[in-house]
Amino acid sequence: MMKDSALLVVDMIYDFIDGSLACLHAEEAIQASLAFIDKVTADTETDPTGVHDTFPILFICDHHPANHCSFAAQGGPWPPHCVAGTRGCIIHEALAPHALEELTFYKGEDPAQEQYSGFEGKNMAGQTLGEVLSLLDIKNVYITGIATEYCVKNTAEDLLKAGFKVTVLTDCLGYVDHQGHLDTLPVLESEGIRLL
Ligand SMILES: [Zn+2]
Repeated sequence: MMKDSALLVVDMIYDFIDGSLACLHAEEAIQASLAFIDKVTADTETDPTGVHDTFPILFICDHHPANHCSFAAQGGPWPPHCVAGTRGCIIHEALAPHALEELTFYKGEDPAQEQYSGFEGKNMAGQTLGEVLSLLDIKNVYITGIATEYCVKNTAEDLLKAGFKVTVLTDCLGYVDHQGHLDTLPVLESEGIRLL
């Protein structure tokens, strides 16, 4: 792995794993993501800070107010999910030890705006994902997450547009619909996103 690479974990949070928007292949995707993390951090110290110096691991979390426009009660397509303060917006317990506050970004906080892409997501200090990746001098972004057709796709596309080299780890994805997942991967590849 090159020094200018990072892993981005998209929406591996409980409502997309076993909650109101539980996705297919979510648990498998988490286990595969953990295996990838083990591989890229194998040569580093076990100290989490040291790991992040070598291969930063960044997290995107869907994080909505209770009246978000994407919810059915407001005319949106989805059941309520990832409402701030609920279990549904917590990172899976096996991945949570890797999540540093400054490298965890929240999206969907504006009640009036759907936000599938995590690119404009912000950490607790108000920095966007794009800003922090640039500060860390990251050039290559590896992506795992949920769901392929929505937040993974939109986040990968925005990173590509911003000039990053983007690799989607196809074993590490959960999805709403299997055919939708299969249909999305070649679209990403045709746009210039690497599939691994
Ligand atoms: Zn959402």
